Amino acid sequence: MKAVTWQGARDIRVVEVDRPALAHPQDVILRVTSTAICGSDLHLYTGNFPKSSMAKGDILGHEFMGIVHEIGEGVKGYKPGDRVVCSFDIACGHCHSCHHQLFSLCDMSNDSTAQEALYGDKSGGYFGYSHLTGGWAGGQADYVRVPFAEQNLLKVPENHARHTDLDVLLLSDVLGTAWHACEMGEVKEGDTVAIWGAGPVGMLAAQCAQHRGAAKVILIDQELYRLEFAEHRLNPRTLVTLNGRQLKQQNCGVAKAVREILPHGPDVAIECVGFHYASTFLHRAEMTLGLETDPADMMNEIFTTVRKGGRVSVVGVYVGHVNHFNFGCFMEKGLTMKAGQTPVQRYWKMLLEKVEKKELDPRVIITHELPLEEAAKAYQIFNNKENGCVKVVLHTKFYKGQYLEKEKGVKDEEVAGAGGSH
Ligand code: NAD
Ligand code: ZN
Repeated sequence: MKAVTWQGARDIRVVEVDRPALAHPQDVILRVTSTAICGSDLHLYTGNFPKSSMAKGDILGHEFMGIVHEIGEGVKGYKPGDRVVCSFDIACGHCHSCHHQLFSLCDMSNDSTAQEALYGDKSGGYFGYSHLTGGWAGGQADYVRVPFAEQNLLKVPENHARHTDLDVLLLSDVLGTAWHACEMGEVKEGDTVAIWGAGPVGMLAAQCAQHRGAAKVILIDQELYRLEFAEHRLNPRTLVTLNGRQLKQQNCGVAKAVREILPHGPDVAIECVGFHYASTFLHRAEMTLGLETDPADMMNEIFTTVRKGGRVSVVGVYVGHVNHFNFGCFMEKGLTMKAGQTPVQRYWKMLLEKVEKKELDPRVIITHELPLEEAAKAYQIFNNKENGCVKVVLHTKFYKGQYLEKEKGVKDEEVAGAGGSH
């Protein structure tokens, strides 16, 4: 089968590898139809993630969906042919963390010990996301093995107009993450919300905040084209965009620009950027020299911008130690902060209903669709922000839907032929 593999920083290759086999009674083998590239994949792509946690040939991808192909004897409620979305986080469903709905912190799905040294604990396992999170093969491939399948597969009901791959694929991660960002920030009717990062996660967080009744949503990025895209795709009534790069050229800080709109600062500040975008020379240098793993730029800007007593929600990914962190500002302003990888399974049924009712529309952020074979190009376009790229979806040969402008479905014989035993 074909799989997208990591071979080193900025070196992605699609290669032929063995098809995965059932290894446990709770496994399902999924025939992938569509898979997306996430901002989290870019941490691996750019080589910013701890290098020792990646091995050449690792299969990438944690946002994917497809058709149940083979099924372990212990899996109940699913059958071959079912169309499903898979969660990026792997939950066993039975451990202490899963009982508290902390599915992304499952105690059973990550057997790496490296995180314990750094965090005193370890996160759950994630598909295609380094050996720090279990070393699981990812879903940017023709087939993928899904452990604890009953917990990690969401069935897509048949025959609903809002159930194309493009409508439901992002339930695997970024729509849930956008919702989780609003949950952690406790965004409610009438709140003012500032969001850093107008990538896929930030844009959907803005959509979710608007849906939850935010009175104003300020979306901040450095890329003009993403802000203009957001202005076209989100409700303009409550949206304001700010371009951090332009503001800098005008010698105006982001905090000052936000305070011109909201004199007291926003009620909620949401971080949707992540650690690999250091914005000051100081942090770029310290990260390069190995003096810290993550920059404080974004968090310090958020702390100084949000209102006194405000709520800070962090879904952008951070790895380890941060220098010059303005913890005093956090404490003295009486802020609260929540952070974390999303427990996708907590929200996805409710979010599927909202997609069906057109209350949320994750599809609006998808700008590019390419065949899986062109993954190297897709990573480059997304990372370099070329061709107006916001979100890229890759389709395998099993995808039967339409591409943006042309039909590229596979013939039924091909699918049937691929369904045999190993
Ligand atoms: P992305 O890289 O496309 O988006 C990040 C955006 O931040 C970009 O548009 C970039 O231009 C912008 N940015 C960079 N520097 C900035 C600055 N100084 N001020 C404002 N904006 C700035 O990625 P994405 O897919 O939208 O993901 C965003 C973050 O969310 C990543 O860190 C990703 O790892 C994380 N993520 C977390 C979870 C989770 O479960 N918590 C899930 C998915 C993604
Ligand atoms: Zn993701």
